[in-house]
Amino acid sequence: MTNNKMKIASRFSKAVCFLLIVMLFILSSCMLSIDTSDDASTPSSIFESGDVSLQIDSDESVDESIDESSDDESNGEAVIPPEDSTFEVHFIDVGQADAALVICDGKTMLIDGGNKGDSSKIYTYLKNQGVTHLDYIVGTHAHEDHIGGIPGALNLVSSVGKVYCPVTEFDSNAFADFKKYVEAKGKTLTVPTVGEKFMLGSAEVLIVGCDPAAEDPNNTSIVLKITYKETSFLFTGDAEASAEEKIVNSGYDLSATVLKVGHHGADTSTSYRFLREILPEIAIISVGKDNSYGHPTEKTLSILEDADAKIYRTDLSGDLIVKSDGENVSVTTSKNEQTENDTSSSLPSEPTEKYDYVLNKNTKKFHYPSCNSVASMSEANREFYNGTRDELIAEGYKPCGNCHP
Ligand SMILES: [Zn+2]
Ligand SMILES: [Zn+2]
Repeated sequence: MTNNKMKIASRFSKAVCFLLIVMLFILSSCMLSIDTSDDASTPSSIFESGDVSLQIDSDESVDESIDESSDDESNGEAVIPPEDSTFEVHFIDVGQADAALVICDGKTMLIDGGNKGDSSKIYTYLKNQGVTHLDYIVGTHAHEDHIGGIPGALNLVSSVGKVYCPVTEFDSNAFADFKKYVEAKGKTLTVPTVGEKFMLGSAEVLIVGCDPAAEDPNNTSIVLKITYKETSFLFTGDAEASAEEKIVNSGYDLSATVLKVGHHGADTSTSYRFLREILPEIAIISVGKDNSYGHPTEKTLSILEDADAKIYRTDLSGDLIVKSDGENVSVTTSKNEQTENDTSSSLPSEPTEKYDYVLNKNTKKFHYPSCNSVASMSEANREFYNGTRDELIAEGYKPCGNCHP
């Protein structure tokens, strides 16, 4: 009897112990989830209340917003790239304006289309690329140098999937034309939601910035990140420092292999904090030769140089084609027609030239002679060096973060 009682008692205490462990487990996981939801809400301080859930439930809002598009693959879910998958971005030289055509696995997206006067260039360029349908058009903001030439594309293609713009009304002839051509294709302008995702072939597009309420049209710019396997591209429209700050505060991963530099290289964009989040290997500046704005400015060029980004400019190189194989990107320029491999992984690990290192006297960084950033370094800052790594470090130089000398 006593034995039985003891057995029952011990079973009972085992059960209590088990229950306690289960409760502890549930409690601790509750606390964990409280922690993460806190994390999720802190970076979105820029959003008005209620927008936090948009970020968390982004899948739902995306499904809804993509319904119109006839695409088979649009809800931001991972798509396995086909065997012959390709990805390329054409930065079309439209002078002091912006235009880029993104093609992934046969799907197409036009991000801006230059000025009104660039319409025929856009028409011809897209025609030569065999474009007959545009899956997406993004007018980053209402300024003419971004949406003015989009009618050229709309004249060419037989159909359009979806057209994004941060505003649906803007008082200018260029905007009225743009809207008219979009409507002629049976579409309306869609204002994207920050956090919205969609697929372009096997590439994922994420809207990281769009502020329709911003006072300056530049700061309404749709800022988006395209990720193709291991490589990524950040398009910034004309977003200026205040918009950049909001984007940084929103907590998205902004790191990108290629950056379309904001506002044609004006020094009101490409703030230090923003650039530090991106750390691009390649920086593309879409800018007109001898433009009256003085773009790109020395300040922007030097901050990009300090970040060890290789700079390409449409005023110097014409149309630029950046191709990605998923790991490396290569740039083809139309004016000197040379292709260069431009990622750190493709750099030789040993110096091949006759100098051991190349120094940047301004940034106090040292590079292998083969490093991308050597080519874009200004001659005044550049110094060739024979000697050891330790000597350089003792002199206060730091190794480049790209070529890791
Ligand atoms: Zn612009
Ligand atoms: Zn602008």
